[in-house]
Amino acid sequence: MKIIMLGAPGAGKGTQAKMISEKYGLPHVSTGDIFRANIKNGTELGKEAKKYMDQGQLVPDELTVKILLDRVAQPDCKNGYVLDGFPRTIPQAEVLDKALTELGDKVDFAINVDVPDENIINRMSGRRACVTCGATYHVVYAPTKVEGVCDKCGSNLILRDDDKPETVKARLEVYHKQTQPLIEYYDKKGVLKEVDGTVDMHEVFNSIVSILS
Ligand code: ADP
Ligand code: ADP
Ligand code: ZN
Repeated sequence: MKIIMLGAPGAGKGTQAKMISEKYGLPHVSTGDIFRANIKNGTELGKEAKKYMDQGQLVPDELTVKILLDRVAQPDCKNGYVLDGFPRTIPQAEVLDKALTELGDKVDFAINVDVPDENIINRMSGRRACVTCGATYHVVYAPTKVEGVCDKCGSNLILRDDDKPETVKARLEVYHKQTQPLIEYYDKKGVLKEVDGTVDMHEVFNSIVSILS
């Protein structure tokens, strides 16, 4: 099963992708996580990506597409995956479709987690991330047992630089301009599914499970 998560920054794509990944045993592939791991390790890719991420802009398609195609060619992705944060532009979607078509394959579901802009700033300013294991929390909606400490690995949590309100505004603009057109793109392909992302995260997940089952 090949699933794509669509939605604004902070809509809950990562949260839902992780739950899908656990329930269905599919790898969770997040281009944002791959970029952040590269930044943390000081790689050339990380240095290049950071320039764009800090501004709330998209990393160029050429670079992004290459790392994504490399990732989904790994053996663990053979039976499917959940893509979180990719594609984010029409050209990225076209490259993915072409690669899948060459393998006689296709995207099964594109799930749009719908959350209006008004809710997003609140979500992002409360998001806390673990740079060691990638776990995500929220100070109100998904708190850790001990404040500021990852439940899964014990590392300290951070507020991502790009989750500060100034950058979130830029990211929302980028989303509406470059990413939102993908909703229509996948609708035309007949694989689009919409879920209300404003309700409790377990309720959102229940809606997704009924779509996938
Ligand atoms: P969010 O959790 O807000 O959806 P991500 O972790 O997916 O954010 O992405 C963080 C940043 O990484 C983006 O703002 C962008 O700069 C970069 N990025 C991630 N995925 C892509 C992509 N598919 N294309 C271009 N840039 C990307
Ligand atoms: P995205 O990957 O789309 O950027 P995340 O999954 O990281 O979004 O979620 C953004 C923030 O909102 C996180 O702090 C997360 O814990 C929280 N969150 C996710 N889903 C919900 C929900 N349904 N209700 C309230 N908060 C949520
Ligand atoms: Zn952790």
